[in-house]
Amino acid sequence: MAATLIDGKAYAVRVRARVAEGVAALVAQGVTPGLAVVLVGDDPASQVYVRNKGLQTAEAGMQGFTHRLPETTTQAALLALVARLNEDPSVHGILVQLPLPAQIDADAVIAAIDPGKDVDGFHPVNAGRLAVGQAALVPCTPLGCLMLLRDHLGDLAGQNAVVLGRSNIVGKPMAQLLLRDSCTVTIAHSRTRDLPGVVRCADIVVAAVGRPEMVRGDWIRPGATVIDVGINRIPAPERGAGKTRLVGDVATAEAAQVAGAITPVPGGVGPMTIACLLANTLTAAARAHGLQAPADLTL
Ligand code: NDP
Repeated sequence: MAATLIDGKAYAVRVRARVAEGVAALVAQGVTPGLAVVLVGDDPASQVYVRNKGLQTAEAGMQGFTHRLPETTTQAALLALVARLNEDPSVHGILVQLPLPAQIDADAVIAAIDPGKDVDGFHPVNAGRLAVGQAALVPCTPLGCLMLLRDHLGDLAGQNAVVLGRSNIVGKPMAQLLLRDSCTVTIAHSRTRDLPGVVRCADIVVAAVGRPEMVRGDWIRPGATVIDVGINRIPAPERGAGKTRLVGDVATAEAAQVAGAITPVPGGVGPMTIACLLANTLTAAARAHGLQAPADLTL
């Protein structure tokens, strides 16, 4: 393997330590940041995420509030809870765990969250602020990718960046962040022609398509930096009957022969996402009280 492995797990530890310092500074001024997580239904993956979020919130010195609602919850009931959390001064961040059951319109719920408490950064006001270069709460996964890229490459200005995927959660905000750092940005998607050729032009590749190992080694420009956002569970019969393993959207072993640096899956972008959720909660709490959030943890 020629490429440097970008260790997101280790970097996330550093981010969480910086968040804990920032929280201690706020607590000294009488403000304890609080994060409310809302979980509707009993999706097993969501249960794990919510439990991890709760643990890490406490470790960072924040207050955590978990609201578990049944699968049959109505949209009106969920909107009523969001309204209460919007008004609660001990809650600085609100996260409604996605996906939501079919009877609930996720866009309506996201739009109901106070943009100042929207620590997922999904509210259209935050998306707009990011697009026009104003202080925003930025979606956690792309924020984590940006931190890893800045840490590894320093100044990103002038780099050719290709973002694979155009979701509101990852692809679009990632492209905005890279543009804000003066990259030349291409956004590719399922209708892009000659995807391998597009990716071969990239100094920076961010893959967020949700297709296991779609990006092959011969798509990668020698020396490029590859950020693999994908989390895909695939069968792993070599580990025993019914066993699975996690892979990214990039064929890591192949790409690592060519790339300059690459994030592993697991242990790359994933740990940064929760670290950035904590960073966003700190930012939201600081701004709610007219205080500065640490500049290295926010935009
Ligand atoms: P979405 O399904 O919302 O978006 C996928 C994007 O990939 C779409 O824009 C789609 O294009 C594009 N795409 C799909 N197939 C192809 C293809 N064959 N060629 C080119 N483009 C394609 O996914 P998300 O953005 O939510 O997530 C992407 C991946 O990142 C998933 O694996 C997810 O699990 C992972 N993820 C990881 C997180 C982490 O913490 N590490 C957090 C969030 C997501 P089009 O718009 O044309 O349909």
